[in-house]
Amino acid sequence: MKYVIVTGGVLSGLGKGITASSIGVLLKSAGLKVTAIKIDPYLNCDAGTMNPYEHGEVFVLDDGGEVDLDLGNYERFLDIDLTSDHNITTGKIYRSVIEKERKGLYLGKTVQIVPHIVNEIKSTIRRVARKSKADVCIIEVGGTVGDIESMPFLEAVRQLKREEPEGNVLFVHVTLVPVVGVVGEQKTKPTQHSVKELRGIGIQPDIIVCRSDKRVTKKVKAKIALFCDVPEEAVISAHDVSNIYEVPLLIHEQGITEYALKRLGLEGLKVDLSWWADIARKMTGAKERVRMALVGKYTGLKDSYLSYIRALEHAGAEEGVKVDIVWIDAPEEDKPDFEEKVKRMYRRLEKVDAILVPGGFGQRGIEGKIRAITFARERKIPFLGVCLGFQLSVIEFARGVLMMEGANSTEFDPNTPYPVVDLLPEQRGITQLGATMRLGRQRTIIKPGTMAHRLYGSTVAWERHRHRYEINPTFIEEIERGGYIFSGVSPDGQKMEIGEMRGHPFFMGCQFHPEFKSRPGRPSPMYVGLVRAAREYKREKGRR
Ligand code: GLN
Repeated sequence: MKYVIVTGGVLSGLGKGITASSIGVLLKSAGLKVTAIKIDPYLNCDAGTMNPYEHGEVFVLDDGGEVDLDLGNYERFLDIDLTSDHNITTGKIYRSVIEKERKGLYLGKTVQIVPHIVNEIKSTIRRVARKSKADVCIIEVGGTVGDIESMPFLEAVRQLKREEPEGNVLFVHVTLVPVVGVVGEQKTKPTQHSVKELRGIGIQPDIIVCRSDKRVTKKVKAKIALFCDVPEEAVISAHDVSNIYEVPLLIHEQGITEYALKRLGLEGLKVDLSWWADIARKMTGAKERVRMALVGKYTGLKDSYLSYIRALEHAGAEEGVKVDIVWIDAPEEDKPDFEEKVKRMYRRLEKVDAILVPGGFGQRGIEGKIRAITFARERKIPFLGVCLGFQLSVIEFARGVLMMEGANSTEFDPNTPYPVVDLLPEQRGITQLGATMRLGRQRTIIKPGTMAHRLYGSTVAWERHRHRYEINPTFIEEIERGGYIFSGVSPDGQKMEIGEMRGHPFFMGCQFHPEFKSRPGRPSPMYVGLVRAAREYKREKGRR
């Protein structure tokens, strides 16, 4: 097993995840089997309880792991399926050490960060890497070098390098090269300082990846090489490019692949990047554009909807269109200007080709989203509701078509006269928040002859879930009689997984999150359907 360890310096949000994924793509192109681990030095056991507005979306894995969004990047770039073991957090490590201590497994010893926590980190990394049966394991250490929280993890990877045979561990450090002042000079000092910090804890980077606006000049690379003690070929410019799919190609051009392979003792492997070049071309080639409204409540931080953005990109590439997302903050019902905001929203929705209402939790913005759904239903604008968006589409239908005034989800109104969305039976009595939802990969049985069937081309779909509420089984007959039919259900027939509206060109909802399984070149059927419907809608509008 070879390890490529990616650390970050200077500041957070440099795109370490994309760099790490890109290196993975390059090693995969050399015929190696690649896996990835993300280390998050926070105390949460997983990302499940975290507010997406702070940390970006919670990504969901097949096994139900609620993890950092970088695991989504790995899955999409490397086309692999990861498990929750691949996201190591301080909380998980401490929990397992404390459990061992309680069992008396440390035989009377004083349990300490060094060696116990650090050993636990190393053994977890090795176990996860070995289990994946990969040739190379990319490990991204979250946070920035110098953070108190990351210390035990950096110490663990330092020791890992010492313990592993020569050439098995490669350190990649991602830093920032800013441009300051009127002369526009690229500054190397932040990089020098952060490498100094890294070396202070005993880690000498093998490769330095420099994030910057413009290509890092040869002169600046030479200076970084000199002061950070790496060869010039090991300093790589990762300047801004118009889309993430170009990053592997950009850093490959500068020789990072050959250099990394050499340092890992794998020189001579033939690298064939044509598959990725094809993907990059496909992902960026489209000329025709469609406008997709995304009506959400975390629209201020785009990372909260990262997988939706990617799924739309993948589907767009498949359909030969570029999807421009129109971000719409759902009007909030308890604000005095609610109706005014709804009007403004409608003016914007008039100009889009499709409407997407994503998942979410909590009351805020619910009524605003419902009004957007009314607009999609009445104006026959292509619509997809995901998870909460699906539940809201059923509430909207109950209120607007079946005249069930006050219909709601018991999540928002426990006393609603028409609880068309209600707690899953197995959720009753659960009080703990973490990892207790209906999570992960589940099978959906699709009814033949439906839109869902046409999209999936199958009577079975496997998709990832993350919810506590469901369409209330007692209302299903009535809803279906009204024309909103459930075309996908759980194997026991009890849980409604997909809904679609009769007499509407494309109005779909799903209880699962299809965006988590969308990959470049292998887009999600639901999103392909939505984007295709958007394109048709736009063309139709053009003809009128
Ligand atoms: N809040 C809803 C539920 O728990 C929807 C969840 C979601 O959109 N992920 O069922």
